[in-house]
Amino acid sequence: MSFSKDMYLKMGISQKVYDFTEEIWESLKTRFEEIDAVSEYNQMKVIAAMQKNRVSEACLLGTTGYGYNDLGRETLEAVYADIFHTEDALVRPQITCGTHALALALMSNLRPGDELLSPVGKPYDTLEEVIGIRESKGSLKEYGITYAQVDLKEDGSFDFEGIKKAIHEKTKMVTIQRSKGYQTRPTLSVARIGELITFIKNIKPDVICMVDNCYGEFTEIIEPTDVGADLVVGSLIKNPGGGLAPIGGYLAGKKECIENAAYRLTSPGLGKEVGASLQVMNSFYQGLFLAPSVTANALKSAIFAANIYEKIGFKVVPDGKESRHDIIQAVTFGTPEGVIAFCQGIQQAAAVDGHVTPEPWDMPGYDSPVIMAAGAFVSGSSIELSADGPIKPPYAVYFQGGLTWQHGKFGIMKTLQRLVETGIVTKDFVISS
Ligand SMILES: *Cc1c(COP(=O)(O)O)cnc(C)c1O
Repeated sequence: MSFSKDMYLKMGISQKVYDFTEEIWESLKTRFEEIDAVSEYNQMKVIAAMQKNRVSEACLLGTTGYGYNDLGRETLEAVYADIFHTEDALVRPQITCGTHALALALMSNLRPGDELLSPVGKPYDTLEEVIGIRESKGSLKEYGITYAQVDLKEDGSFDFEGIKKAIHEKTKMVTIQRSKGYQTRPTLSVARIGELITFIKNIKPDVICMVDNCYGEFTEIIEPTDVGADLVVGSLIKNPGGGLAPIGGYLAGKKECIENAAYRLTSPGLGKEVGASLQVMNSFYQGLFLAPSVTANALKSAIFAANIYEKIGFKVVPDGKESRHDIIQAVTFGTPEGVIAFCQGIQQAAAVDGHVTPEPWDMPGYDSPVIMAAGAFVSGSSIELSADGPIKPPYAVYFQGGLTWQHGKFGIMKTLQRLVETGIVTKDFVISS
């Protein structure tokens, strides 16, 4: 309520920015109630899986060395398998990030001579090097695994005819990216992913359908494995880590797919049996417990941003009204200055490193300079309030996260304040010409 207003003014938000954004927030309350309803369901889903698997205090303690019979690790993997309704799961601190989890899933389930198909267009930037779309040491291509791609149609729909033509005897695995990543195409709903998988399985039942689930977890009450995916893969410093997991990735799916991945992650013969959990189990469990509500907070922040920037006149994907299937909000500013000002506003709202100014840099894995704003408790964590954008046309910024809705709200107010201060948006909240 309005007693927060003085705090905002003290923290550098102008009266006009406050009034403008407050009015938009008021208009979103029904929408927010729907998000809370999804998070309520998912909270029960997580608690149910933890209770069923008898999560106990002993699970929260770690192991060292080989990590044989690690109760916490084994129970957590059973909990993940229950949440995703899969036969098995691999949830490990030894999986260093989302890209690693995806590379692991691909490299362990494909063999020389096989082909990987992406029926939803170009995959996430860092996967280009994993696949070998961009030359790279150790890529799938180097191992004789080929890649085929069918783009989405102009209107964002699946090119069913093209997909049918692209599936042949060598097609072993299909990769479907749920989230838009660094693109402005729409994110796929779980229902649409299900439709695509059904179509593919009708043509070739034994093809492995993998979904890159990054940023999608807990945004809906079902997950891709509820609609036919053989494997879902993601990062623990995004949604399912709830902001607490300090590292890690997960795979959940068919027993054989998980087995293959485990033998690749550790070693043939060892598989899931080794891998000490060190001191991370407590944060993996508690983060998973918080994940449904943290994801809801991030969704609210994204919707708030969409409605503000749409009203000003920038292109936003998803738009202010659309249903949400991931936590990412793209805003197209059309200039490097817009991207930079937005990211600087996010940084100014951070609890950690709020005093630093982000600049574009040449990040490993990306083909243009990228600017990243984050003041994170876990370095690089993008379930925390963060924004990033490649410095290349169409000059779109990708905003995500917010462990709390209040922080997300403040961050977005700061971005608008910064855009007004730099003259990119006028004092009457229209785009400067
Ligand atoms: C973040 C992300 C990845 C890669 O995860 P990292 O943890 O950054 O390596 C892959 N795919 C999508 C869609 C993502 O959002």
